[in-house]
Amino acid sequence: MKWPDSLKQFKLGRADVSIFNNGELAICLAEIMNEQSRWDPSYNEYVENTRLFPSLTIHISLQGGASVLVDPNDFLLSSPPGSEYYPQSREYVPPPVIFDQLEGSGISLSKVTHVVITHAHFDHYAGVTRKDFRGNFRPAFPNAKYFLNHADWDRPETQQELLNNPHSDVSNSLGVLNEEGVLQLVEGTEELLSEIAILPAPGETPGHQVLRLRSEGETLYCTGDLFHDFIEVENASAMSSWADYATNLKSKETIVKLALQENAYLIPAHMQLGRLSMKDSKIKWNAVLEIV
Ligand SMILES: [Zn+2]
Repeated sequence: MKWPDSLKQFKLGRADVSIFNNGELAICLAEIMNEQSRWDPSYNEYVENTRLFPSLTIHISLQGGASVLVDPNDFLLSSPPGSEYYPQSREYVPPPVIFDQLEGSGISLSKVTHVVITHAHFDHYAGVTRKDFRGNFRPAFPNAKYFLNHADWDRPETQQELLNNPHSDVSNSLGVLNEEGVLQLVEGTEELLSEIAILPAPGETPGHQVLRLRSEGETLYCTGDLFHDFIEVENASAMSSWADYATNLKSKETIVKLALQENAYLIPAHMQLGRLSMKDSKIKWNAVLEIV
């Protein structure tokens, strides 16, 4: 999918928002949906066929100098060629690594002030560190604080990886941030800046959270993996097998209700910019192709 240039960067109130695609993941939703997922048969072709889902990193620049990054992924680290979701086509070439994309857009890595990790799945934080010239992993944004929900940090999977394997992906990323004293564990709602808040939206993982930007009457939610696809937006029960069903259902309902009330923009991490509408008491996902 090729996006119009206008969608990669736009203004929301006084904030500048940029969307970066780290690369595509080839996913057949039918293979990852939980058993309780229900959808109208008209969705079958989307559910049953393998499709490409972008892996997005979002940058928000606020007046006053705050430079906020959501879910930096180092694509080839989290999805190397041959791994489960890497596209099988031999011609597939992923976009440049996120660090080069950011710098190419004039976003200085050393000026990033806040990095928000929506949840502890590696494709959402593989880019929080990068190797230095000695081959040691160091924070990729040397002057930033990094925000992860404590419930994802406390997960047995996370803690066991940290304890048992100093060279694991978790140790090389979240472990390094923790040792450097730059990892901030979020509990509940956190007012990060006057225009930005982190809201809990558990279910995909115990500590899954979303970012809300409000500026001059406009609202944007960076919703992480609350939805992976429009099918999961339009069908409340549709979600991945690893999600906690009841918890995720409640989070989806809460954020959908807020987004409808505020006519908010949404950027789910594997979709694109969109808005919600309600028709015949059904939620509809509407891709936004331009902001006027
Ligand atoms: Zn994801």
